[in-house]
Amino acid sequence: MTSEPKDLKNSGLGTRLIHAGEIEDERIEAVVTPIYRATTYKLSEDVYALTKKYGRTEHPNIAIKDHELKALRYKNFYVRDSNPNNAVLQRKMATIEGCDDCVATSSGMGAIASTLLSLARGKKYIVSTPQLYGMAYSFIYHEMKEGYGLEALSVEDFLSRKWTGKISPGEIGAVYVESLSNPFLLIPPLDEIKEVRDELCPEVPVVVDNTFLTPVNFRPFTLLDSERDIVLYSATKYLGGHSDVMAGLVCGPLSKINQIWEKMAIYGCCLDPETAYYLERGLKTLHVRMARHNQNMAEVYKYLAGVSEKFRIKLFHPLNDERAAPKFARSLLEQKRLGGMITFNIQGKGEEVGIRFMNLIHETGVIKHATSLGGVESLISMPYNMSQATWDQQEKIELKRYPCLLRFSVGIEDVGDIIDALDQAFRKIWS
Ligand code: PLP
Repeated sequence: MTSEPKDLKNSGLGTRLIHAGEIEDERIEAVVTPIYRATTYKLSEDVYALTKKYGRTEHPNIAIKDHELKALRYKNFYVRDSNPNNAVLQRKMATIEGCDDCVATSSGMGAIASTLLSLARGKKYIVSTPQLYGMAYSFIYHEMKEGYGLEALSVEDFLSRKWTGKISPGEIGAVYVESLSNPFLLIPPLDEIKEVRDELCPEVPVVVDNTFLTPVNFRPFTLLDSERDIVLYSATKYLGGHSDVMAGLVCGPLSKINQIWEKMAIYGCCLDPETAYYLERGLKTLHVRMARHNQNMAEVYKYLAGVSEKFRIKLFHPLNDERAAPKFARSLLEQKRLGGMITFNIQGKGEEVGIRFMNLIHETGVIKHATSLGGVESLISMPYNMSQATWDQQEKIELKRYPCLLRFSVGIEDVGDIIDALDQAFRKIWS
């Protein structure tokens, strides 16, 4: 017999990260949930009853209710639909974010695609900005447009309210933003977005990709509405935290998570139980790692700002943004709880110098020249060739103005070594 997970929603964040969602096999009493590799499980009467209902959702009298679909989703019968490791992970994340439920996916893109395919079904518009991770940009600005006929409406136009009278609120599928954008680290005006949404189109969910900030630095449901909105992650980054896990997570209200789960299952972007186990293990140290990422970032920022004239560095970071920060983010800036990302351009230099800089840095053995981010190790890459490789996005976000743009994911090594590695590489390219 396995024990039911304990209710820890009122415990501190560290306690929830470590213990929420966990189950114990009472015969074995291991302190961690084991990996259940099975692809299929003994079928029970209640699974039959629920699947029968689920199979007849078009029938008004026996349509499956939200809580029944959740019950089915948490019964183990076939690994793509559910399994014990995903259940632990999903329960943990829902407890951390403070919402009904969560669904795990095979990647961050799986989370984004399942969410948007679900929310934008039958709609005509999606409110967004090109300041996004490149594949998310391609999904919204190409795949959704060319495949499903959805037009993107800019966040600025949405906030201007000029669309009213031309677009009906029922035609908008979602508002989609990153809480700290890839790669320029812009913070969207989430307070204003919520205000306009509440006033003009209360049914439209706001979807926040919170990958760069993580729930340790910012929990979007403290501002948004856990009954309507969605928070999602590429868990491949900070949540996994060791550059060895690929996964995505979507958190929100039950009715929407049920629908997103359906998309996940139909399109088959399910999370493997072993990966779910490693991700859950990563989450247990998230609060400790993020504290160190924040701290190292603050030191690296201080160094880069200090040598910005000498090495002609233009910094892209919320601490360096002249515009007033959105209200919700002011305390994050004051407390420097911004995670480990910083982007900079070496002014007057081109792509080849950027590549040389990254190779020089790699040779120090402290910082790796590699894409991705959010692991314990420092990584540096060029958005131009990797995360933002699509030319039309590059035009929209004016990437071409910065041909030597580098995106740096500050790890949790000793910060003195990180700064030394940067300093050596800057000296070499300017010598
Ligand atoms: N969201 C952000 C902000 C990202 O940076 C990425 C990947 O870099 C993704 C989503 C996609 O995640 P994944 O690579 O896990 O599919």
